[in-house]
Amino acid sequence: MDHHAITAKIAALPKAELHLHLEGSIRPEIAVLLAGRHGVPLTEDEVRERYAYANFMGFIEAFKWVTSFLRDPADFALLANDLAGQLLAQNVVYAEVTLSVGVMLLRQQNPQANFEAILAAIAPFEEKGLRLNWIFDAVRQFGADLAYQVVDWAKRCHSTRIVAFGIGGDELSIPTKNFEPVYKHAADCGLQRLMHAGEVGGPEKIREAVEYLGVERIGHGIAAIHDPGLMDLLAARRIALEVCPVSNLRTGALSKQLAIAAPSLLQHPLPQLLRHGIPVVLSTDDPAMFHTSLQQEYAHAHEMGLTETELRQLVANSFDFSFSEGHS
Ligand SMILES: [Zn+2]
Repeated sequence: MDHHAITAKIAALPKAELHLHLEGSIRPEIAVLLAGRHGVPLTEDEVRERYAYANFMGFIEAFKWVTSFLRDPADFALLANDLAGQLLAQNVVYAEVTLSVGVMLLRQQNPQANFEAILAAIAPFEEKGLRLNWIFDAVRQFGADLAYQVVDWAKRCHSTRIVAFGIGGDELSIPTKNFEPVYKHAADCGLQRLMHAGEVGGPEKIREAVEYLGVERIGHGIAAIHDPGLMDLLAARRIALEVCPVSNLRTGALSKQLAIAAPSLLQHPLPQLLRHGIPVVLSTDDPAMFHTSLQQEYAHAHEMGLTETELRQLVANSFDFSFSEGHS
């Protein structure tokens, strides 16, 4: 069967997505709308220029810039409404969306007010078959105290829709061990645990997240290819890697991990990780900021050499390794 026929078959399947940032889903037209709400003139072309990065820190800067237009609960509602529509259009029926509560706290916003506005905005999409759960996310370089507050806010919101706590940001900034009490607090609050690790950092960042923090899934984790023992451990303990190929290409993470100046997506280690028996879930990370979609990620995975059976395995993994009821 040719490439088009297989990707069309996969596109038609109901899918789940487990590594998706709400704030990374601000399409250029939505950025223009948000900026306009706050009296900032902006064009879609200007947003597209900002959405091109030379490296990982360039991406972090663009993330900071675009999220500066998320200032009140109505902004979050507008964005959540747009994302829900985008997901349904791709046959995504379930997603765990990451919310950067760490950034909200830094900007002295009320995370509960933002979260309630988001829930209200997406309610109509639930009737159309989309179910969304939420991950409250802290920013690593902001430190353990602020991360602890993120867990407190998850508890205060008191919603069964908040299923996990995670940490993203600059994984080279603060040692993993510093976050041990934060993850214990998250577990005590009944939250599942996640961390971005082994994206631009080495395999030891993944191992530390597993051993010190008890994480159930790893964001990215592509550095595992440098440590066969770690790959065995992830496979044996059934710890999923949320693999986001286009993100890795655009942030320079792929270049860094492969030590190749300008790698091709076809060199991505996704097939190697999957064929080692590690549960891989395919995701977009920040689809608007990386000019990608879940459909495109599956098409790329096929171009990397994955068979139809392997693509279907990826589709199944995203349900099996979700934190929704009935799965764990
Ligand atoms: Zn991410």
